[in-house]
Amino acid sequence: MIVILLGPPGAGKGTQAAHIVAKYGIPQLSTGDMLRAAVAAKTPVGVQAKAIMDAGNLVSDQIVAAIVEERIEEDDCAPGFLLDGFPRTVVQAEMLDAMLEKKGRALDAVIELKVDEGALLDRLRTRIKETLARGDEPRKDDTEETFKKRLGVYREQTAPLIPYYRGQGKLKVVDGMGAVEAVSAEIDAILEKIGS
Ligand code: AMP
Repeated sequence: MIVILLGPPGAGKGTQAAHIVAKYGIPQLSTGDMLRAAVAAKTPVGVQAKAIMDAGNLVSDQIVAAIVEERIEEDDCAPGFLLDGFPRTVVQAEMLDAMLEKKGRALDAVIELKVDEGALLDRLRTRIKETLARGDEPRKDDTEETFKKRLGVYREQTAPLIPYYRGQGKLKVVDGMGAVEAVSAEIDAILEKIGS
């Protein structure tokens, strides 16, 4: 089962990804996490990506696609995988289509978490508060200013994926405004139809 989770920053992709991983036993491939690991390890990719990420912009399509292509060749991706944060541009979506075709694999579904943008800023404030309450440091790109920038980048560069995947007949829209469990239940109903 190969699935993409799509939605603006703060839509709850990370939370729902954790649910899908636990329930379906497929790995979560978060390009944001992979890039943050590269930044922390100061790899050449990480050094290049750091300033771009801190500013809320997108890392180059080629770099991100190369990271994903390498990762999906690992054994744990054989039964399938969940893409979280990739693709983020139509070019990346085309690159993904080409890499899956080369490997004789196919995308099963793209789940769009549809949210009311006005509520996203409130969610961000809650996320920062909860992170601080745990004694953790909030993400560098989790400031209101950078968040608004990331939202703009989503609208301009990532939202065109919605018609792209609708055209492929792969798009499934889920109401992301409900309680976490209700959103998970909607996702389950979609994934159960696909099977593994
Ligand atoms: P995320 O954790 O998915 O919100 O990603 C954090 C940041 O990593 C983004 O704001 C981008 O700078 C970068 N990033 C993550 N995934 C991608 C991608 N698919 N393409 C380009 N940049 C990405």
